[in-house]
Amino acid sequence: MINDEHTARQVCEGILDSLVGLPFGLGVASVRLDTDSEPGLAFEPTSVEITLAIDRESAVVRWNLALPQLDAVVDLANQVQDALAESRAGWGAQIPRCSVHGHPLEPRVVDGVAVWACPLGYADAMIPIR
Ligand SMILES: [Zn+2]
Repeated sequence: MINDEHTARQVCEGILDSLVGLPFGLGVASVRLDTDSEPGLAFEPTSVEITLAIDRESAVVRWNLALPQLDAVVDLANQVQDALAESRAGWGAQIPRCSVHGHPLEPRVVDGVAVWACPLGYADAMIPIR
């Protein structure tokens, strides 16, 4: 359980580290195993709730414990990107930005590695996530 929280924090910090050169602060404020359940019911947590600090705002994303790890990394990167797009600091910015075209990169698995990839397939623009 503590392991899941540790992994969630590590993966999320890896995603945030891959977003270099942002003009505002970005970090993991807290992680918490999602233990919401019916009283008395046997319950396996299915996610870890991660609170991000984006400049002076916060946003919640979830590390999905039910997905294979690589898919979970891409899923989390997607949520981080959405949270940034909806934040005041990241509003209207292309994060992370494709160095070839200027549009936002998309999280994907390429050759067994999680990366930020150009949606048009330009390998030069690719940024590794971890
Ligand atoms: Zn591109």
